[in-house]
Amino acid sequence: MPIALNVNENTHPVPDEVASDILDDIAVALRDVNRYPDREFTTLRESFAEYLGHDLDASQIWAGNGSNEVLQHILQAFAGPGRTVFGFSPTYSMYPLLTQGTGARWVAGTRQPDYTITPDDAAAQVLEHDPDVILLCSPNNPTGTALGLDVVEAVYEAARGVVVVDEAYQEFAHRDTVSALALLEGRPRLAVSRTMSKAFAFAGARVGYLAADPAFIDALRLVRLPYHLSALTQAAAIAALRNSDTMLAMVDEIVEQRDRITATLEALGFQPHESGSNFVLFGGVADPQATWRALYDRGVLVRDVGIAGHLRVTAGTEAETTAFLDALASIDSAS
Ligand SMILES: *Cc1c(COP(=O)(O)O)cnc(C)c1O
Repeated sequence: MPIALNVNENTHPVPDEVASDILDDIAVALRDVNRYPDREFTTLRESFAEYLGHDLDASQIWAGNGSNEVLQHILQAFAGPGRTVFGFSPTYSMYPLLTQGTGARWVAGTRQPDYTITPDDAAAQVLEHDPDVILLCSPNNPTGTALGLDVVEAVYEAARGVVVVDEAYQEFAHRDTVSALALLEGRPRLAVSRTMSKAFAFAGARVGYLAADPAFIDALRLVRLPYHLSALTQAAAIAALRNSDTMLAMVDEIVEQRDRITATLEALGFQPHESGSNFVLFGGVADPQATWRALYDRGVLVRDVGIAGHLRVTAGTEAETTAFLDALASIDSAS
């Protein structure tokens, strides 16, 4: 497919100068690849702590092969048979699958019609279901909705179990969206997960990470496989983080394309939802399957996330975004 805007990747490649810097470090790591890697990935944890700020140190950082593995570690440690995992639907489609993989039960809560959640409603739903693990996605996939810290605080207060804020798209969020990292201090059951797959354009390298209390991190050490992060992965991620300014230079441009998608969709008669991520969920599609197919026939791949009357599109490069908007305008599909 020439234009793939379906899985929220960063469609910009890693900048050339960074790619060669990463390659130099991988070459060095390769010289020692007969040995097992640093199983504590200490330098990488220090690099993430520095990148995240908020006075974090390496003892509060965990990492895995993608944030999917990090989430799996959390669920292996805190979920399992007889336990429940809760999230506000619609949310990331992997949560129920990762939950069921540990033998736990997924419980879907509800949102307002515009996909926001109020602190009172969130707390009431948590009290009702009393879950062992709560997965909050902010900004949320597939809706783009950011959660206020008041919601995270209310959920934490109401919960007996572990609360995870999945901030996979945080770098794309509006400037007034404060990271839940600001709430970590004094909340030992709270974790904030991130990924290098989106803003860092590193989806193929598989690197996700998390910040939490050191005791929370220790619980994850019990479930990971020994040496789960390869020496090559560690080397690549450390080098990428050393170049984070350049790696993240494309974020502003992607945000610009996202906002252009929103404005153009409105002009075309669709109802885009407010997005703090690198994608836009839009309603007002008369027949999502037909529109998905018509875009596909024009060389543009988007995502039918199974919400009636809606499709989701990732913000691409300026040219990709133009191709999507032109293709959509050529199909009369608004209801
Ligand atoms: C894309 C995405 C991730 C990232 O997964 P990786 O395994 O790090 O590639 C995590 N959470 C959400 C909500 C996502 O949309």
